[in-house]
Amino acid sequence: MPGEQSKKLYEEALNLFPGGVNSPIRAAVKPYPFYVAKAEGPYLYTVDGERLIDYVLAYGPMFLGHKHPQVMEAVKKQLENGWLYGTPGELEIELAKKILKYYHPGGMVRFVNTGTEATMAAIRLARGYTGRKYIIKFNGCYHGAHDTVLVGAGSAAAEYGVPSSLGVPEEIAKLTLVARYNDLESVERIMKRHGDQVAAIIVEPVAGNAGVIPPKPGFLKGLRELADRYGALLIMDEVITGFRLGLGGAQEYYGVRGDLTTLGKIVGGGFPIGVVAGPREIMEKLTPSGKVFNAGTFNAHPVTMAAGLATIEVLETGEPYRVAREAASKLVKVVEDLISRYDIKATVNYVENMFQVFFVDGEVASPDDAMKSNRELYNKLHMELLKRGVFIAPSQMEAVFTSAAHSVEVVEETIRALEEAFKRLREQ
Ligand code: PMP
Repeated sequence: MPGEQSKKLYEEALNLFPGGVNSPIRAAVKPYPFYVAKAEGPYLYTVDGERLIDYVLAYGPMFLGHKHPQVMEAVKKQLENGWLYGTPGELEIELAKKILKYYHPGGMVRFVNTGTEATMAAIRLARGYTGRKYIIKFNGCYHGAHDTVLVGAGSAAAEYGVPSSLGVPEEIAKLTLVARYNDLESVERIMKRHGDQVAAIIVEPVAGNAGVIPPKPGFLKGLRELADRYGALLIMDEVITGFRLGLGGAQEYYGVRGDLTTLGKIVGGGFPIGVVAGPREIMEKLTPSGKVFNAGTFNAHPVTMAAGLATIEVLETGEPYRVAREAASKLVKVVEDLISRYDIKATVNYVENMFQVFFVDGEVASPDDAMKSNRELYNKLHMELLKRGVFIAPSQMEAVFTSAAHSVEVVEETIRALEEAFKRLREQ
């Protein structure tokens, strides 16, 4: 549990940062966030002297675990050569080739600095390429912190979007049409009305910002067909799933291809990154070859390029996927056993190396289902695990991630914590 030193720092932080933090989810650990002094492998070490097994992994990027030696070596080597040039470097070519091999053979890449920037650029590109104005997104899917995607469902029916943040003008939100995840009909309804003005459908192929919600069979394929039928682009937002569900991400995993892919998180090896990738014909519309504006002082940052490249090289051995899958499948089985042993109404959603437990009666096939989960129970689970040295997502609406560092021993230790935590849940 967060201790005295964390408490002291947080009190100071409350006077310095809105809500005490620099990204809202970090304030979700109650009563205050723990402050981290260092991290290695599957562990976070707090300023209070605690060691935590990390299943948050910085919300996804640290798929190799913390401080992976190969990534460290690559970063150090880059630092020796300086770390920002404002002119191209060789590593960006190497990393782009790797990404294109797995996502868009023969295509092109634009490196930016965050997933937010990647979806912002991809959406502008889709609008510029098609000459259309509307974007279709799904309720409960998150694509970053820019205006076009900060739009939620206005009502139970598919609707013109309403802003989900103050400061997003209604006029802008109205250009985002909100459909329901795993519900093709909701997309078709929008397409029937606005199809000739829809520039793109943007989707998280596995919804990872509403817990974990896999696509129903046929959902992604149906989106592909609808996009084609109405001449819209399909943007696969693989910021979470890219290089996580395998080298080729969700598109390879489910066998459905987007026109554009956005990546982030893992592909930067833990350094800031965003990627837009797609076929040359579309990508060349970006500046300077085309007229869709995109730029960035830090784009293709040399340190990030080095870390990303080293990460992919380790991923290509296949070992990280094997370890992370084994860890997740064991943990999911244990959680399912505990749910049934204690007769708790709950369900676990699971894909490869990401999962989430929802305290709900019945399946969770949509973000609306996820919202029905008993969040209080989830928060208790999170707390009970934290007390026992295991850090899972502090919100029901995030995923539990495993990594290449979650070895058999680490998983065994986690299982003991899970058993005690569920026992406590039952007693309360
Ligand atoms: N898209 C998805 C699917 C995400 O999960 C996130 C962040 N969690 C983003 C985009 C935004 O990425 P970033 O936080 O790097 O801006």
